[in-house]
This record gives sequence, C-alpha cells and structure tokens, in this order.
Amino acid sequence: MYFNIQRFSTHDGDGIRTILFLKGCSLSCPWCQNPESRSEKRSLLFDQRSCLEECQLCIAASHKIGCTGISRENNQIIVNRKAINQEQLIALENVCPTQALSVCGQQAESEMLFESLMKDKPFYDQSQGGVTFSGGEPLMQAGLVTELAKKLKQNNVSTAIESCMHVPWKHVEQVAPYIDCWLADLKHTDDEKFLSWAKGSLKRIKENFRQLAPIAKRIVIRVPVVSGFNDTIEELQQIIDFAASLESCQELHLLPYHTLGINKYRLLDMPYLCSDKPLNNPELLESAQTYASKHTQLNVIVRG
Ligand code: SF4
Ligand code: SF4
Repeated sequence: MYFNIQRFSTHDGDGIRTILFLKGCSLSCPWCQNPESRSEKRSLLFDQRSCLEECQLCIAASHKIGCTGISRENNQIIVNRKAINQEQLIALENVCPTQALSVCGQQAESEMLFESLMKDKPFYDQSQGGVTFSGGEPLMQAGLVTELAKKLKQNNVSTAIESCMHVPWKHVEQVAPYIDCWLADLKHTDDEKFLSWAKGSLKRIKENFRQLAPIAKRIVIRVPVVSGFNDTIEELQQIIDFAASLESCQELHLLPYHTLGINKYRLLDMPYLCSDKPLNNPELLESAQTYASKHTQLNVIVRG
C-alpha cells in the first residue's frame, strides 16, 4: 500500500527524483512528522476547519455503505474511527469536495507503480536523478520494493531508499543489490534510550548496518537531532563514531528537529508527545561537525 507519489523532488537523493511513499512503519518515534504513514492500513484524516457547514456528502456516503462512523452533532461532523472499517474507507475516498475528510493509503499493482515511476525518466537522465523509496518504512513491503527496484535498475534508473533499518535482515538483503544509495537513520547508539523513545530494537538496526556496509554501494546516515533524546555532543559523537566505522558510509546528515508535522496529529486524532518547539542549537551541530572533521573521514552536513 502506498500513500503518495511525489514527482520532481530535489530532496531525498541526487538530481530530480520521484519519491514513492509506502505505508507502514515498525517504530513509533514521538517526533515523527509523517504520522499518517505509520499504519500499514488506510488512515482517515479529518480537518474540521475545512468542513462546509451545510454539506452532508460524507454522511450520505457512509449511510449508503452501512457505516455509522460519521455523524453531525451541533452542526459539526463527528468522526468515530473505530466504527469505520478498511472497506468503508475505500468508499469514502473521494466524497469530500474540500478534502476536509481524506483517506491516506491506496492499493496499487506494482505494474501501475512502475509506470508512474518511469514517467520522468528523461529528467532522471538529465539530472543524474532517479527514484527514492520512502515511507513510513519502505522495507515493511520489501517484496514490492525489490520488484520495483530491480526493474528500475534494468531500465537504467538510479535508486535510493530512505529506511529506519528496523526490519528483519532478510528484507535489507533482498533489496540491497538493486539500491544505489541508502539514506538510513541512526537515531541513537544507546539501546535502552532508543527503546524507551522509539519503541524498537536498536540492536537490530546496528546489526543491519554492520551487515549492509560491506555490500552497499553508498550509505548516507541521517540523524534527527531531537531535544531531550540525542541533543548532547556525547550522543552525537557516538553516532558519528558508529557511522565512521561503516566502510560504505562517507556522509552523515544532521536533521534538526522541527514541528512542521504537528497539525497532522490533530487531523488523525492522535496525541503529539514530543516538544512543540523546534531544536535551536546551532552550536551543538557545529561542534558535531568539528568533531567529525577532526576524528573521522565523514562529511557531516546539517540539513534543514
Ligand atoms: S521511523 Fe520515520 S516514519 Fe517511522 S515512526 Fe520514526 S520518524 Fe515516523
Ligand atoms: S464531505 Fe467534507 S465538507 Fe462535506 S460534511 Fe463531510 S467533511 Fe464536511
């Protein structure tokens, strides 16, 4: 299941790129700016502010399919997600004229996805761009990613993948021959702290990196720098040291925490459990860059 195909992106890899966003993630980072991507199923977003006062379209559509999850009370639309199943979400996909109500997540055949990803081949060729798999965690759908990446490579399209690496090694191993660049997260080096914040196994992530490093063409490590989680120079130094120990990694990106995705939590009716203030600590990021240049061969870049 995917939730977006973004064309003409100049982020997330070299040149002009198409990004395929896939649903599902095995971590629960509280700073996640794409919470709609985390469930492997369709998600319903609702924005009261864009809802039209006299409109009944979603209520009529839900009644038609026997769904009781949408009602109007005191002239406000009330959404009860527990009373709406996945099949009913499909029927509600395109009913709202203002996108106040929207469904995130679509099933697609790999052939259709491949054709979409090939549309901008001339631009990839001109700009040394290509296709990036993103999410969520794209390796939650390793079979689909492998099939697409293999066909893209057969058609001389460069491939990149954004991954949190919190997946079984067999998923990484399966897709690795067809990926030119790994944009992979290493968020911490302390197992317990990682578990308590992101609810996952850092041991698995580190082991995946160690096994991937000898066979990957290129790994770029990405580090979201989050207040209270990993915003000390000691923690960043340990991450830099680990990255420097991986033979195919020459580059590390520091991504200062931002809050641009907070509104999505409201639309999904999910609590936001991280700070509502972006990280503002340029001295820390500069110190990390200085440390890397003195002690490692890594090129450490701060990204906005
Ligand atoms: S790994 Fe990425 S997509 Fe998954 S929860 Fe963390 S920030 Fe969100
Ligand atoms: S269809 Fe959209 S605009 Fe109309 S009532 Fe439903 S949410 Fe509001």
